Amino acid sequence: MAKIVILGGSFGGLTTAFELKRRLGKKADITLLCDVDSFVFIPSLPWVSMGWRRPEAITLSLDKILTSKGIKFIHEEAVGVDANASRVIAKTREVQYDYLVIATGPALVFSSVPGLGPEGGYTECIFTLEQAKRTRKAWDRFLENPGPIVVGSVQGVSCFGPTYEYAFEVDAELKKRKMRHKVPITFVTSEPYIGHFGMSGLKNSRRIMEDEFANRDIKIIANQAVEEFTPEEARLKDGTKLPFKLAMFAPPMAGVKAVFHLGNPKGFIPVDGNYRHKDYKNIFSVGVAMAIAPQEQTPVPTGVPKTGYMTEEMAKYAAVNIAAEIQGKPLPETEPVGAICIMDMGNTAAIMKAKPVLPPRQEAVLKAGVRYKWMKQGFEKYYLWKIKRGLTQLP
Ligand SMILES: Cc1cc2nc3c(=O)[nH]c(=O)nc-3n(C[C@H](O)[C@H](O)[C@H](O)COP(=O)(O)OP(=O)(O)OC[C@H]3O[C@@H](n4cnc5c(N)ncnc54)[C@H](O)[C@@H]3O)c2cc1C
Repeated sequence: MAKIVILGGSFGGLTTAFELKRRLGKKADITLLCDVDSFVFIPSLPWVSMGWRRPEAITLSLDKILTSKGIKFIHEEAVGVDANASRVIAKTREVQYDYLVIATGPALVFSSVPGLGPEGGYTECIFTLEQAKRTRKAWDRFLENPGPIVVGSVQGVSCFGPTYEYAFEVDAELKKRKMRHKVPITFVTSEPYIGHFGMSGLKNSRRIMEDEFANRDIKIIANQAVEEFTPEEARLKDGTKLPFKLAMFAPPMAGVKAVFHLGNPKGFIPVDGNYRHKDYKNIFSVGVAMAIAPQEQTPVPTGVPKTGYMTEEMAKYAAVNIAAEIQGKPLPETEPVGAICIMDMGNTAAIMKAKPVLPPRQEAVLKAGVRYKWMKQGFEKYYLWKIKRGLTQLP
């Protein structure tokens, strides 16, 4: 029986595990290893940071959802992979595999800018549940002593969406509290222009986003790198100093330590069109862990986002390929993945569709409207329902 080991219990790891189980049933022995014991619906973390969602409402036990489907779960951190011996080295054991799927997501590189990040720095972040809970506390303190807010993405960032969401949400919440006039908001980004999103923009996304920010009186500083953060200000490379009472910045990402040696210089795993490692034929990688080369060099470095929808598509393709190989069937053709994403805008939201993710595209949509806010709220519930039942269909 083929032994398949999956590293990571989030969008990529769970989708691969469920899809493999669905296709192979008892023909495969599937084990998922994860350093945390819960699945967290990451797209709702900005809402946790605003106090709009309780952490328990977006968290599921991995053990429950996996073992009920006949997938083994090991709650342990992988510390290394011996690819030549087909072995994962975990904290207390070693696990042999015939196939390995790396879905370990990112390491957050706060050390890239002095003073960046919540641990040892002066800026908040909302990329993990712990960070979002911390930002919630910082927000409560801020409300008692308001002042300027700076939100943004430093040089090298690839995941831009959450900082847009946070800026819009802060604006909406301050308006609700009738405090907006006390708080200047500045949005700083390494993107060459606002609405670029690390994917060369989407139709008229630049104009739409410029209007949305102007309507909310949020000042934009684009195409900028940050020199350093001090406890009171963001110092930009061009000499601009932005004082703040609260700063929330996205960090650049890299591959996680356990698999870094299998990756490119940033530790992201290089794969072919079937999500198979370029050198190790029994290793696959999906989601944020795998490498996508940017299509264009931006003046200030940026990366390409890897969204949840993209990750699920990759995971399904990887599972289809592994299953076909185990069953001795020809490997099916895979298509370049697309992205569908709903960005919260506080009182409204915007839907974004791009297929493929980078231009030239067959399909590109960016539309704002209150109905997309309802759609985003509904999608959270639908996704948690779906993943609890081990379903892998995309909407
Ligand atoms: C704040 C925020 C909001 C977002 N909003 C959206 C959105 O609205 N729509 C959208 O499509 N996308 C959104 N995204 C992107 C989306 O969350 C990612 O695309 C998705 O999480 C990627 O899934 P993944 O499985 O590749 O990695 P991750 O979700 O990062 O999961 C990696 C998993 O691997 C585990 N792991 C890491 N290292 C190890 C190790 N050494 N051993 C064992 N396990 C390990 C982690 O604990 C985790 O379970 C958002 C991202 C952020 C940060």
